[in-house]
Amino acid sequence: MSDILDLCELSPAYVRAIAPYQPGKPITELAREFGLDERSIVKLASNENPRGLSPRALAAIQAALPELARYPDGFELTQALSQRLGVAMQQIVLGNGSNDVLELAGMAFLAPGCSAVYSQHAFAVYPLATQARGAHSIVVPAKHFGHDLEAMLAAIRSDTHVVFIANPNNPTGTLLTAAELESFLERAPKNVVVVVDEAYNEYLAPDLRCPSIAWVERFPNLIVTRTFSKVYGLAGLRVGYAVCRPEVAALLNRVRQPFNVNNLAIAAAVAAFADQDFVRESYALNVAGMAQLLDGCRRLGLAWIASYGNFVTIEIPRADNQSQAGAVFQKLLRQGVIVRPLANYGMPDHLRVTIGLARENARFLEALQAVLKD
Ligand SMILES: *Cc1c(COP(=O)(O)O)cnc(C)c1O
Repeated sequence: MSDILDLCELSPAYVRAIAPYQPGKPITELAREFGLDERSIVKLASNENPRGLSPRALAAIQAALPELARYPDGFELTQALSQRLGVAMQQIVLGNGSNDVLELAGMAFLAPGCSAVYSQHAFAVYPLATQARGAHSIVVPAKHFGHDLEAMLAAIRSDTHVVFIANPNNPTGTLLTAAELESFLERAPKNVVVVVDEAYNEYLAPDLRCPSIAWVERFPNLIVTRTFSKVYGLAGLRVGYAVCRPEVAALLNRVRQPFNVNNLAIAAAVAAFADQDFVRESYALNVAGMAQLLDGCRRLGLAWIASYGNFVTIEIPRADNQSQAGAVFQKLLRQGVIVRPLANYGMPDHLRVTIGLARENARFLEALQAVLKD
């Protein structure tokens, strides 16, 4: 026993101090725990696309199966991204999910003695990517649950190498306008890397999107990250990417595993990216589902944080000044509905709910109504 403890002491203190990422509860696990039928369970906990993936992506996966003995080649995906986004192929770095790309930014730019700045209630991967490098986290208090860019600017120190910004943010759904973000980029020190994480970009109405890709030309310190996990429905395959200056991409590539994105993921992403009808339909479903959920919340007298993603974060009223969100989460589980508690994001009174199919949203609202009444 003490041998193994001594062994663990070999791990740097900053690694041992990491609080592990808490994923949404898997359907299979809930089914096992409560003896429920998997098909009766509604999971609205991880911001996945409730429609699944594009049939064209599924066909591409099947077609790629015989090639699995070969190492992957990201050329075709990088080329498709480069053409559509209007950047050079050397400006794109593929990741095993955009999570991987966020880690690459940490690996390439952070080390003990440096700091990273990010917002309170921001995406959980920023503290992980920072701590894993032994860098110091500067967590800036949120403003109305969103990023306070003025305070973030003021928090940048001479040892700050990276600023992480999620736009829209998860788990709050808050959005920064293009003017706000542009002004931040104009004023941020040029020797600080600014990572703008746009995992939910495709869920934004076109007029709310930032010209972030074009900004890479103007702001050499900008890294934009996007993912195939959300609107493209490929969360289980793990594909994301960064767009940045070629010199920055070259650094990310130095710390990237040579074959970090697998064959099936690449094939699926190429097909999914080509299927923009699927993206449009998913977007439309999200708009309708958001209206349905918000209407339900309104009828239940619940408050929520205005969200620009494929999820909404709802406030669960306290009872006797005691937080009820954890208990409501547990009771929803018993009804076969999985949502996301946010206590580990410092939001003990909120639950995050992914916009599902119409019938899933209805199931959630019924279950929530029943739980709140009892
Ligand atoms: C879901 C999400 C990601 C994407 O994660 P993947 O690793 O691409 O699956 C990145 N950033 C935010 C803010 C997210 O919510």
